Amino acid sequence: MMRIIIIGAGVIGTAIARELSRYEIDIVLLEKTADVANGTSKANSGIIHAGYNADFDTLKGKLNVKSNPVFDKLCADLKVPFKRIGSYVVGFNEQDLKELKKKKENGEKNGLDDLEIIGQKQLISQEPNINKKAKYALYAPGAAIISPYELTIAYANNAVINGVQLLLNTEVNDLISDDGQIKGVKTNQGEIKGDFVINAAGLYSDKIARMAEDNFKIKPRKGEYHLFDKEYGDLVNHILFPMPTKKSKGILVLPTVHGNILIGPNANTIDDKDDLSTTSKGLNKVLNGAKRLIPEIPEKGVITSFSGLRAALSSEDFHIDFSENLVGLINIIGIQSPGLSSAPAISDMVVEMFKNYSLRENYELQLKKDFKEKNSKLPHYYEYEDKGKLDDWQKIVEKHEDYGEIICRCEHVSRGEIIDAINAPVPAQTIDAIKRRTRASSGRCQAGFCGPRILQILADQLNIDPLEVSKKGSGSQILRARSKQLILEKIKEDKRAGDQ
Ligand SMILES: Cc1cc2nc3c(=O)[nH]c(=O)nc-3n(C[C@H](O)[C@H](O)[C@H](O)COP(=O)(O)OP(=O)(O)OC[C@H]3O[C@@H](n4cnc5c(N)ncnc54)[C@H](O)[C@@H]3O)c2cc1C
Repeated sequence: MMRIIIIGAGVIGTAIARELSRYEIDIVLLEKTADVANGTSKANSGIIHAGYNADFDTLKGKLNVKSNPVFDKLCADLKVPFKRIGSYVVGFNEQDLKELKKKKENGEKNGLDDLEIIGQKQLISQEPNINKKAKYALYAPGAAIISPYELTIAYANNAVINGVQLLLNTEVNDLISDDGQIKGVKTNQGEIKGDFVINAAGLYSDKIARMAEDNFKIKPRKGEYHLFDKEYGDLVNHILFPMPTKKSKGILVLPTVHGNILIGPNANTIDDKDDLSTTSKGLNKVLNGAKRLIPEIPEKGVITSFSGLRAALSSEDFHIDFSENLVGLINIIGIQSPGLSSAPAISDMVVEMFKNYSLRENYELQLKKDFKEKNSKLPHYYEYEDKGKLDDWQKIVEKHEDYGEIICRCEHVSRGEIIDAINAPVPAQTIDAIKRRTRASSGRCQAGFCGPRILQILADQLNIDPLEVSKKGSGSQILRARSKQLILEKIKEDKRAGDQ
């Protein structure tokens, strides 16, 4: 059977793995870190863009518009939180109004027929906390919010239940080829033979491409964010954009699918692809930018700050094409925003490219008869709480008492939900992996209360020493030594000092 190797388990690699798993082929998905959704797909604005921003003659413009309507069914099938709440691009003067009209025209060229420019009165009625100097807004009802890492994890779970082999902690260091034809990859875990390779390595996709002498250069562009406590969740009802610039959509204010408020990102070109630090200068810029839209941003409500890196090519467009130098390699490079919004259409495009390749190679592709379109729905306490269905939750607790013990008090996550995450098709094996699947430790106390409890559950379920439990994989272990051991060491040290 033909084997496809996909490099990178971000939203793009996992979406492609899932779509290809509809066919009778052997698929191996390689990820260098300890979990899926550990790259840019975990740190972005989480918007499914309506599709008015990019020009239709760009690949990103086309793929965004094609993908947007797909998300309702996709998220229902994969059990991913998704809300079509609509967006406003906010203008303050006549010049902005001209730009808004241009954006609307561009959106209409892209095929959107529901865009509307509204005036101040209507804007304030929809967003009572908006800056009262705002005069106009472009309304796009099709814009939506999603949890980007939950989408990626759900794609990966679905791919795995449909037969994809996911290898974590597996970093591709080189490509194997023979006579101009791809034959596999070299990794830190050894060689993996394959007939077709898909490079979806995000920020590092240029490095993989260069292994085939395809010349690309990604310049990372950092965006920083503040996340606010749910207490302030009703500050805005829609996604609020300022007027965009050529390089960025500006600093936005939006609700998240889980009821927090997110502000950011700024945009700074940097050199280091692993630099996810935040700076007070950058975050102040974010705060001031957000205040232009919502002047009463409650600074004291920030519960965490983070950054993400855009994988920008100088063309500022997506590059999705066969390698110029190696037969059987597809490079997917420069997938910055709206990459999350475009993931379904990118995966369809790559599947089509692979189908054409198979035809040329006289390889007959067959659809799987037993492809599982849907993920199973796992119980989450917060969902029952939000819907006022705690009697139904009680019935679940009566069947499985683990759901009755709340481990994360801020986000109301039970022991049962954490155990479900550890036993999922793509198992959660680190503290961060538990957080991204259950929300445990993502609330106001940021793991202060639940951290040690989650650590113990992980150790018990994975049958490992608590000292081995890590935040995000090898080298990030939480505990250094047993306290008894530390006390003994201290006694010895004091004794040595006394003897001298
Ligand atoms: C600040 C910011 C805001 C954004 N907001 C939005 C938004 O609101 N809406 C939207 O549509 N898009 C948005 N985006 C863009 C979106 O986040 C990206 O397009 C998308 O996440 C890219 O996914 P990916 O799978 O290509 O990359 P990644 O998620 O980075 O995945 C690539 C994976 O490859 C792995 N990898 C790398 N090298 C190797 C190797 N050698 N071997 C094995 N594995 C490897 C990495 O560890 C990583 O997990 C935003 C981006 C940023 C930075």
